[in-house]
Amino acid sequence: MRPFRSLVKKTMRDDEFADIYKYADSGELTGNSRKDKTILIIADRYVIDDEGLLYRMDLPRDKRLAKLKPVVRRLCVPRRFRHEIVKFTHEQNGHYAAQGLFHTLATGFYWKSLFTDASEFCKTCEVCQRTTVNFGHKYAPLNPVAPPDFLGSRFSMDHKTLTRQTMGGNNAVLVIVECFSGFAHLIPVPDMTA
Ligand SMILES: [Zn+2]
Repeated sequence: MRPFRSLVKKTMRDDEFADIYKYADSGELTGNSRKDKTILIIADRYVIDDEGLLYRMDLPRDKRLAKLKPVVRRLCVPRRFRHEIVKFTHEQNGHYAAQGLFHTLATGFYWKSLFTDASEFCKTCEVCQRTTVNFGHKYAPLNPVAPPDFLGSRFSMDHKTLTRQTMGGNNAVLVIVECFSGFAHLIPVPDMTA
């Protein structure tokens, strides 16, 4: 009795893994010379375990790293299960962003569009859209301005847009505040140009 029968079946029929599964399982090629050439090149990376599951093995490209890191065995996931795996991992890991999600997934799973699928999923996750903080935004340093010492030494001004045009044809108010007293001058103006 194979507990992963459904997964195995889907892998055997998957558009990405069907051919390599067949070759790894029985040594049979497709008969299409272009496809078979690729299969023969990648074949030594694929193994099928006792349960019938297909794995891809990855050696680090860097030879020095290869001595330190063991071969990573990643489960080949057929299309049918990809969305659920991405969703589950993303939600279980506290809504990692695309990079983090990809690295977590890539430690145990393999399929070609893993990175794209992980990033696409993050873009559609409702929770992420609502809560993601834009860390690219840097705050300007605060330069506190000392309070004025006497009346009339400093004025600050700004425009306030009106919600509608006044009878006099004005669309904004120029607000000038005397900083020592806080006294405001309100000057109606037709627009916000100087
Ligand atoms: Zn999310």
